Amino acid sequence: MSFQGKTALVTGSTSGIGLAVATRFASLGANVVLNGFGDAAEIEKIRASLAAQFGVEVRYDGADMSKPAEIAAMVEKAVGEFGAVDILVNNAGIQFVSPVEDFPIEKWDAIIAINLSSSFHTIRAALPAMKAKGAGTIINIASAHALIASPFKSAYVSAKHGVAGLTKTVALEVAEMGITVNAICPGYVLTPLVEKQIPDTAKARNMTEDEVIKKVILEAQPTKRFVKVEEVAGIAAFLASPDAASITGATISVDGGWSAR
Ligand code: NAD
Repeated sequence: MSFQGKTALVTGSTSGIGLAVATRFASLGANVVLNGFGDAAEIEKIRASLAAQFGVEVRYDGADMSKPAEIAAMVEKAVGEFGAVDILVNNAGIQFVSPVEDFPIEKWDAIIAINLSSSFHTIRAALPAMKAKGAGTIINIASAHALIASPFKSAYVSAKHGVAGLTKTVALEVAEMGITVNAICPGYVLTPLVEKQIPDTAKARNMTEDEVIKKVILEAQPTKRFVKVEEVAGIAAFLASPDAASITGATISVDGGWSAR
């Protein structure tokens, strides 16, 4: 599998799943646009090491995925520099756990903006160049929570179900244009996003943090282990490969059997 000469833009790729996906595409020869928050020196280290290790161009864009104008500018810049975003991976996301009646309004708004609306904004900005090329891959990193719910995650589950709907709708709109649109639905992956929600879930469910890991997180996942970031990256690379040309509008579970229950 080679993506030489192609460009992958991965939102939220300074950490966790996004970083693994960006690394995978770089390792397969794609130029990469990194995005996400973090320490500027750390991000530059990641950027420079991917470029040096794999001999590809790696740029960083610090656009805030809650700001439509910054998102549009990021995609426009990438298209201007590379000719198109051939592979768009909508991955940036945040989480907040709370009973719905206590859910802070600003957290609801932020989760809907970053986890759902940002994908609408990147897609609408990236599609014209994909259509002009008659080729493109859009991958939305959704979640098992795009298909099933858990209590205390009202905003996250709503946003991720929305991502599944957006995925299917855009897939139908571009089905005859050589562009595929799919959602990957991971179960629990041990990244900072999950590590941060363990104390809040413990509070909401009146459990210790160890009980949350064993009885809430790994209990949900029949394999009884966290999904690895590399496993998600592998599916993303497959979806961008020619063998996946007929896979579109799909929600692909990578959840250790969680959604089979
Ligand atoms: P993470 O916290 O490790 O990474 C999130 C990334 O998004 C970081 O790079 C962060 O800087 C970036 N980000 C956050 N807010 C942003 C903003 N406003 N603008 C730009 N970038 C922003 O989390 P992760 O677990 O790697 O999550 C990545 C995606 O995978 C998310 O959409 C998440 O919902 C999804 N997901 C995660 C899991 C899991 O168990 N970790 C499971 C299913 C789905």
